[in-house]
Amino acid sequence: MKFRALVVEKTADKRFLRTIRERSLADLPEGDLLVRVHYSSLNYKDALSATGHPGVTRHFPHTPGIDAVGEVVSCDSGAFSAGDRVIVTSYDLGMETDGGFGQYIRVPSSWAVWLPENLTFRESMALGTAGLTAALSVLRLQRAGVHPEAGEILVTGATGGVGSMAVAILSRAGYRVVASTGKSGYEEFLTALGAARIISRDEVTAFAEKPLLAEKWAGAVDVVGGATLAAVLKSTRYGGTVTCCGLVGSTELNMNVYPFILRGVSLLGVDSVQCPYDIRQELWQRLASEWKPAHLERMIRECTLAGLEQEIAAILRGGITGRVVVNLL
Ligand code: NDP
Repeated sequence: MKFRALVVEKTADKRFLRTIRERSLADLPEGDLLVRVHYSSLNYKDALSATGHPGVTRHFPHTPGIDAVGEVVSCDSGAFSAGDRVIVTSYDLGMETDGGFGQYIRVPSSWAVWLPENLTFRESMALGTAGLTAALSVLRLQRAGVHPEAGEILVTGATGGVGSMAVAILSRAGYRVVASTGKSGYEEFLTALGAARIISRDEVTAFAEKPLLAEKWAGAVDVVGGATLAAVLKSTRYGGTVTCCGLVGSTELNMNVYPFILRGVSLLGVDSVQCPYDIRQELWQRLASEWKPAHLERMIRECTLAGLEQEIAAILRGGITGRVVVNLL
């Protein structure tokens, strides 16, 4: 049986070509769960995979797509039945395992969670790994004792996928959110998501060479890394907590120990890839209910496989706002 997928190939001169191809089910990797994908979404990691970043994908030809939602075609383990609606994210999907930028995926059934009742296929991919990662960041802040009364929470990269989801979820959870962005003209978008205040990227990193900065944030969700993360740590209030999940600015973290030893600040790593099954299940239920972003539809831009080339270029230059949902119907 044939289906359509985005296929990335490595050429002899080490370039990466992306084309939409017909593939057959026999091309898919082994796994007990076969899913007809309805929607996927575009994450920064997909753009890295699609352009041959060896930290994400080493073997080509390959179909990226770390997110997928759809209907079960067959499940050899018996964990799901034909017609069940499942979300597949995390683990190796879209990295070395062919992912959601194809109309079918075959994966271990342990990678799938039930699509919650009050989420549509499309909504679940608007959330996707970005929503899951933002939700995990908020859960970690809560478990670290950062409550809404503690003060303002900073979100960096606020117009991007994880950032915009974090703004929306924190706001729904009752926090006063300060959104940091490098873009101008997105005040209305961020305010609609729930940001109480918007500041520029430059304001976050101003005077960052100092050993410590004025105490501002009760907590923060950082997707940028590098000098931004260092500045956020230096301006976090006594006892505050910062979560770190991304590297769009830099993978480096040149820091001193003062925020940790003089202010008791904590830095918590967030990883959605190996996130335990029970936590993923809990987070999806919350994303479908009390944490469901109020204006999810406003955050979505939909494209087809043919439109992905343009969106991949946009996400690599930090030009995406909200979430790109990929329609595979
Ligand atoms: P997006 O591109 O959608 O969002 C990133 C945002 O960061 C941009 O929109 C921009 O927002 C800001 N930004 C971009 N470049 C820079 C820069 N050079 N300096 C400062 N800010 C910048 O990406 P995602 O939301 O999909 O992913 C964000 C990060 O989180 C990535 O590094 C990704 O790999 C990581 N991630 C990690 C996960 C994990 O499990 N640890 C899971 C999911 C994502 P603005 O213009 O508003 O400032």
